[in-house]
Amino acid sequence: MAAPPSDPGGQDAIAAALSPMAEQSVVCPGCGAVVPDVPELRSDHLYVGAAAGCWAAYTELIGREMAEPALLGIHMLAADVYPAQHPGVAGRQSSQSVWVHLVGLCLVLEHDFDVAMSARAKARLAAPDARFEWLEPPSTLGPTTVLDILATDGAEEHARAVRYWATQVWEAWGPHHESIRNCATELLRS
Ligand SMILES: [Zn+2]
Repeated sequence: MAAPPSDPGGQDAIAAALSPMAEQSVVCPGCGAVVPDVPELRSDHLYVGAAAGCWAAYTELIGREMAEPALLGIHMLAADVYPAQHPGVAGRQSSQSVWVHLVGLCLVLEHDFDVAMSARAKARLAAPDARFEWLEPPSTLGPTTVLDILATDGAEEHARAVRYWATQVWEAWGPHHESIRNCATELLRS
């Protein structure tokens, strides 16, 4: 009697193709997270230096924060952390984005601004004609990524993780702290 085929109907191959492990993965150039390659989203994120799969994860994070009233405040902090961890390459918009979001982190973490106060202060940096020098990003921007935040359970844990993420990304930008602190101090004086 002939042995039964080891993979009747090719079920193993189909299961393998549907498994998340079968997706092409890429390393996000900003945070270093290993994320699925999702080419259809590649044009979505303009000048932010993120892999499309990482940006998709960030979009999911925004959705979770918007759906949970207790997380609306922390969302404004996450909205500074993510771009600061994904600076992209030198350009007018990317340079301005890095400055605005790092000043935002500085105001919240070092000046105890709440996120609404930080947003009002940062608005003055976001003028369309403002020009900022490019801050060369450090080689790594902290071990925590958006994937770690998505892995948390419950609003409290989520908020604590975002705050920790913010601290790590801010510390990683240490070589530019003096410039950012000066800019934040100028904003506070004016
Ligand atoms: Zn990323």
